[in-house]
Amino acid sequence: MGRLFGTNGVRGVINRDLTAEKVMRLAASAGALLCGEIAVGRDGRTSSPMLRNVVVSGLLSVGCKVRDAGVLPTPALQHAIRHLGLDGGLMVTASHNPPEFNGIKVIAGDGVEVSRQREAEIEDIFFSGGPEPTPWNRIRTVSKLDALDPYKWAILSHVDRDVIRGAHLRVALDPGNGVAALSAPAIARELGCSVSTINAEVDGRFPGRESEPRPENLDGLRALVKASEADVGVAFDGDGDRAIFVDERGDAHWGDQSFALVARDFLAQNPGEAVATPVSSSRAVEDVVAAGGGRIVWTRVGSVIVSRAMVEEGVRLGGEENGGVMYGPHQPVRDGSMTMALILEIMAREGGPLSKLFGELPQYAQMKDRVACPEDLKQRTLEVLRESVEAPKVETIDGLKLRYPDGSWILIRPSGTEPIFRLYAEAENEERAAGIVEAHKRLVEEVIRSLD
Ligand code: MG
Repeated sequence: MGRLFGTNGVRGVINRDLTAEKVMRLAASAGALLCGEIAVGRDGRTSSPMLRNVVVSGLLSVGCKVRDAGVLPTPALQHAIRHLGLDGGLMVTASHNPPEFNGIKVIAGDGVEVSRQREAEIEDIFFSGGPEPTPWNRIRTVSKLDALDPYKWAILSHVDRDVIRGAHLRVALDPGNGVAALSAPAIARELGCSVSTINAEVDGRFPGRESEPRPENLDGLRALVKASEADVGVAFDGDGDRAIFVDERGDAHWGDQSFALVARDFLAQNPGEAVATPVSSSRAVEDVVAAGGGRIVWTRVGSVIVSRAMVEEGVRLGGEENGGVMYGPHQPVRDGSMTMALILEIMAREGGPLSKLFGELPQYAQMKDRVACPEDLKQRTLEVLRESVEAPKVETIDGLKLRYPDGSWILIRPSGTEPIFRLYAEAENEERAAGIVEAHKRLVEEVIRSLD
């Protein structure tokens, strides 16, 4: 059986890997499984209107009723699905991928992307010729869905508006020409912030910067923070589910730092609660959760897995190191505008500059590397490694995570999408992190050679 779904939905280069025909059959297959009333949304990519049309047709062809939410952030569509009790949704987006890509995220009735199991069922229907079409007299209707305004108000209802308004924060926003432009500036203004923006026109060619917000491609936002003397800068990815923060000095901070800030604040207000995060997350998160008397629910790598763990175990906060924070009281999925509102509230309440808040967090040196490994050797390599690694503590939630008494650790895991093993290490200083990575890189290479 073939595979359609990757780590976050179906993705591909448009009209090459991902054709209108293929997406119509995918939508019909997903519609046959979800059944009922299905919301459809899309990001601002140039190919998204084309895919929206075939998604709607595919859903109608199997008897679904379609609610068209138009152009909006993925979390806004997810919020509408759960809030209105719809049966599911299809979001046309390739998130942060380059402009020639597009894709589909399939969302279940609880607003979270469907599980791996459900994805496999959709693939089964897709590859066995597609679902049975519905008779003509059971074809249902398409109507509009206003999801954006209720979504913005929902976010505003989860923060202390008076406190944020009273702080008169200056905020610089960089939606990266993505759909966060439709939510984040309006929310920040509603919170009494004075807002300046860059790349705030939705444009599917992403002329402003790469769609993935990474510290190294946020020069425009850094400059805007300086020029507008902003208290904070926020950059979003293409479909608005991830946010990366720049402090008032113009320094960008990776997502594990902003997640740690949110987690610290969450535990101060909700003592003893659990926080879900993948095994690849920084020890900074682990430290603030421990200091706050909370506990971590470790998951495999992947935002959908974290969200699903939150739903299953009743966990109200989750996050990933790439800037995806899941605030359960709002919804258990990544939401860039919600994350922005939470950080604004923390800034308003604490009063100090954002650089000081980040400076209070534990800092560790991180090191990443990779080792090429043929797909068919990944599993055996992992098994042999498990026998040969030496560490006081070995965890096997996803790949192998080795922990040492000085607090340093390394994660060795096969990539789900590329023929490589990824190595992530974290330690008190760079020499130690580099040493751990170097030693294990050699070990992984030796094991692969011995099996080849
Ligand atoms: Mg995204």
